[in-house]
Amino acid sequence: MTGIFDLTGRIALVTGSSRGIGRAIAHGLATAGATVVLHGRDPERLAATTSDFEVAFGSARVRSVAFDVTDASAVVAGIAEVESSAGHLAVLVNNAGIQHREPLLDLAVEDWDRVLRTDLTSAFLVGREVARGMIARGGGKIINIASVQADLARQSIGAYTAAKGGLRNLTRAMTVEWAAHNVQVNAIAPGYIHTEMTQKLVDDPEFNSWILGRTPAHRWGTTADIVGPAVWLASSGSDFVNGQVVFIDGGMTVVV
Ligand code: NDP
Repeated sequence: MTGIFDLTGRIALVTGSSRGIGRAIAHGLATAGATVVLHGRDPERLAATTSDFEVAFGSARVRSVAFDVTDASAVVAGIAEVESSAGHLAVLVNNAGIQHREPLLDLAVEDWDRVLRTDLTSAFLVGREVARGMIARGGGKIINIASVQADLARQSIGAYTAAKGGLRNLTRAMTVEWAAHNVQVNAIAPGYIHTEMTQKLVDDPEFNSWILGRTPAHRWGTTADIVGPAVWLASSGSDFVNGQVVFIDGGMTVVV
């Protein structure tokens, strides 16, 4: 690939890329020329994804690292390991996340904390550590993976909704402090995408038909739908795009 979307020579870390949306984004960045650092907690799943990527892109352009994004000292050690094995990061995608479905009245504070730590605090911890290097080197790209729940609430996912709304505003907070250092921070807000996280919803006929009726495009999103905007936000094609949230939702957030 040539031109403004070419990522040749850029090193990109995608958190939570052992599967799902993160894996698709990492694949898209590698297809656009980047060297990718795959990441997750489960070493076996990470190893399997890494070997698939090595077959597709060659081992020189694929690295992997396992650490828990909620553990502040593991994040510092993990980013140091990435930068010494792969090189300096030009792109970070904060994608790792979890869901927990339970009404607020029944939600234990431990579950609230776990969701907030995984879906919001992680982006602060990993983003801060990576941005230190990007700022010292004169720039970089950070993409936070939010959700339509950055803007819209739905019953039984209160902690997730709070975390993703926080991630939207963290994207703005990072922008106000880091944009002058040539670090562009933006968010992608996927609608309902068919992955392991949403498999139970896809399998529920009532929920499935609600999604189809609620989405103007009348379908679930696929992980491939997220790739184009991610490549754009990782590339020189977005050098004056700062603090934005790009909704990839088949139109869900523009209709009632
Ligand atoms: P999956 O459950 O398929 O994958 C989650 C990934 O995150 C895995 O690689 C997992 O690795 C990693 N992960 C989770 N917790 C941690 C942790 N504490 N430390 C390190 N890695 C972790 O999720 P999706 O692909 O569906 O979702 C990815 C992102 O997209 C999330 O932020 C989600 O909120 C967001 N999103 C998803 C939507 C959807 O419809 N699927 C819609 C909107 C947003 P491991 O298993 O090894 O821990």
